[in-house]
Amino acid sequence: GTSATLTGVAKTFPDGTRALHPTDLAIARGETLVLLGPSGCGKTTLLRLIAGLEASDAGGAIHFDGEDVTALPIERRGVGMVFQSYALFPNMSVAENVAYGLRVRGMGRRARLAEAASFLALCRIEELGERRITELSGGQRQRVALARALAAKPRILLLDEPLTALDANLRETLRAEIDELLRRLEVTSVYVTHDQAEALMLGDRIAVMEKGRIAQIGTPQEIYRGPATSFVAEFVGLTNELRGEVAAGVFRATHGAMPARHLRDGTHTLRFRPEDALVGPATSVGDGLVMEVAAAVFVGGHQIVTLAGNPPLRAHAPADMPLALGDRVGLTLRPDAIKTF
Ligand code: ADP
Ligand code: MG
Repeated sequence: GTSATLTGVAKTFPDGTRALHPTDLAIARGETLVLLGPSGCGKTTLLRLIAGLEASDAGGAIHFDGEDVTALPIERRGVGMVFQSYALFPNMSVAENVAYGLRVRGMGRRARLAEAASFLALCRIEELGERRITELSGGQRQRVALARALAAKPRILLLDEPLTALDANLRETLRAEIDELLRRLEVTSVYVTHDQAEALMLGDRIAVMEKGRIAQIGTPQEIYRGPATSFVAEFVGLTNELRGEVAAGVFRATHGAMPARHLRDGTHTLRFRPEDALVGPATSVGDGLVMEVAAAVFVGGHQIVTLAGNPPLRAHAPADMPLALGDRVGLTLRPDAIKTF
């Protein structure tokens, strides 16, 4: 694996869009760094800058293993890329697609195809070598794209939402396989996604991006347990937001009141995950939050309940609790699961 260092890398497009503010980033040898954030926050732009598909604004520099690659075009950076859309050659066979990067490097045909076969096996599509790309499913195409990128032995592998176009089951299967592959091969990789589950599973570290900046970078545990901003919190599943006033150890919101001895007096925004908010009978919470049921969906082990309010809150209820629209229920929050901003 290769390490990469970005210093002051930035991108303003000719139309004036500031897609990426000046950014410093160090990617360690062999690590998988996930860029996580909503559409339009600059993930693809940052990836394309690392690839050499975009040039940084003046002052930015990129080094691979200490070597300055800032001025090198993509074909001389030794990066491999996998996109959401497959970018495969439709009129070549699967094996030829995978062997393509090796042809460019001057390897003979037999050696190329043997090498391609080993990467097809690695990506669990050894039986598809003779097929045409047009005869493959979306998931199979993405395996080919991955095999092709890996076969070229890239210094850094760049993946831009490679699973986004696939259905949920397939996404999960491939996610686990990619995770296993990247760890086994110890290839340095940057993986772009807007999906927090994908980020938490795949990332050695996650960089959460907001409006052309890295809002927070850390291990999945650090990001999940200690989101630095309200924006990051929402992105890692702390989707409930409850704004209120604390006075004398009591938190008051439009939804009701609850003890909050650990909070200073003043205005606070609490954030918490639906699974850390438990619905029970209204009488179960004493002076706690009492709210009205707006919807309840049975999902197997529990119910996901929407509680009316501005904004509404999401909480969990026991699977067997009878709940009807308009019922008044109590809400208990796990104190250690609440983040304040
Ligand atoms: P993401 O991958 O996170 O969705 P992008 O990096 O594609 O975000 O885009 C970041 C911002 O830059 C967006 O506002 C997008 O519209 C803009 N942008 C991307 N490419 C171009 C371009 N070639 N010209 C002008 N604006 C662009
Ligand atoms: Mg993108």
